[in-house]
Amino acid sequence: MEKLYWQEELETLSADGLRAFEAPLLKQQISYLYSQSDFYRDMLDQAHVNPNDITCHEALEQLPLTDKKDYAQAQLENALIGRHQCAPIENIVRLVGTGGTSGKPMRIGWTRQDVHAYNEMGARALWTLGCRPGDLVLNCFNYSVYAGGVMDHMAFEHLGASVLAYGIGKSQALLEMFADLPGPKCLYSTPSYAVRLANIAEDAGIAPASLNIKKGFFSGEAGLQVPGYRQKIENTWGMSSHDLYGMAELGCQSAECKHQSGMHFCGQGYVIAELMDPDTGAVKKMQDGEKGELVYTSIRREASPLLRLRSHDFVEVQTSPCACGRTGFRFQTLGRSDDMFVVKGVNIFPTAIQDILYDLQPKLTGEYQVALDYAPPFDYAPRLIAEVAHSTHSAQYNELIKQTEDLVKRKAALTVKVELAAQGSIASEHKTKRVLRNY
Ligand SMILES: [Zn+2]
Repeated sequence: MEKLYWQEELETLSADGLRAFEAPLLKQQISYLYSQSDFYRDMLDQAHVNPNDITCHEALEQLPLTDKKDYAQAQLENALIGRHQCAPIENIVRLVGTGGTSGKPMRIGWTRQDVHAYNEMGARALWTLGCRPGDLVLNCFNYSVYAGGVMDHMAFEHLGASVLAYGIGKSQALLEMFADLPGPKCLYSTPSYAVRLANIAEDAGIAPASLNIKKGFFSGEAGLQVPGYRQKIENTWGMSSHDLYGMAELGCQSAECKHQSGMHFCGQGYVIAELMDPDTGAVKKMQDGEKGELVYTSIRREASPLLRLRSHDFVEVQTSPCACGRTGFRFQTLGRSDDMFVVKGVNIFPTAIQDILYDLQPKLTGEYQVALDYAPPFDYAPRLIAEVAHSTHSAQYNELIKQTEDLVKRKAALTVKVELAAQGSIASEHKTKRVLRNY
């Protein structure tokens, strides 16, 4: 059988064997959280849970679920990372940001051990999707703040790939670099960037397939699951395409193997995943065809541990064996169970847009909707429909539209097309739908 990975055998353990391996780590982690942070101590006390009672996976169900907004709130209340910070600053060697609910990036800290864990899970996922030592990878994710840059770069290095830190933008120079580099190459980017880069190449009279990019490793968007989209990328570039899944809070921890039978969860020994009914919060059994939301608990994390974090990814799982030999569960993402949407690898929360619109009061009312008119990936400018106040004279509309577009671009790094709507036309008495998915 093909080698699955080079350091650990966790990927082929039986379900019972894995649970036996993880249970002591879980117990140790819960005791650690309780002793190191007010945030978790309060949470367990309020749930009347003794940390010593969390000795197996099932016991996790006694604990409350957490959401990104809980961690964002905890960050507002305290210094660097938040009340859930469990390691002292002296031990934190890296910080990254993730799209936050407040419109500011949420900070995540990493100790040396956390970085090692990220690298291990990342390398395992990258090996699963077909990356090997000897691959020359150009990383075209943003090296500023977000995890796709430095964090994923280090995971490629950990695996033994040759990785070049390219970053974002400068697409013309990137094409020249691809042309200069001898031999086969790999691209690491969002799938929508592969499409955009192909357009730029074709406009410049360069056939994408002539650049000898043989493997595309894609993350940050669900694009590869869109029928026809994957085929288009593969045909245009003459490459094989490989899907990677991760969350900045946890790392890139799932990937497709060559059998393309769903995403293999690769977090064994570092992260416990539960499947949950998003409406009732009840835990569901991981079995073939079962659907639910993935919930994650880190079990060997020091700086920014996560306890039963709701991913809001609604998936269908498979547990039957895959031909590759990996025994963990696999999943297909069916959609998001909340309103967050991902543009070019960056999470956008409607509430972040709301914050920005409040800056433009009293000309705007602050009521708004985002219209996504075409299926993911969202590589186009969504429409932002904003309510204009009765008192604003129509002669000011054009300037107001431009001002709003500029502000959203500057503060949320999001390009939108603003349309004004009459005051009172958006907000409903019930919960106002903020994101319209018109596809
Ligand atoms: Zn497989």
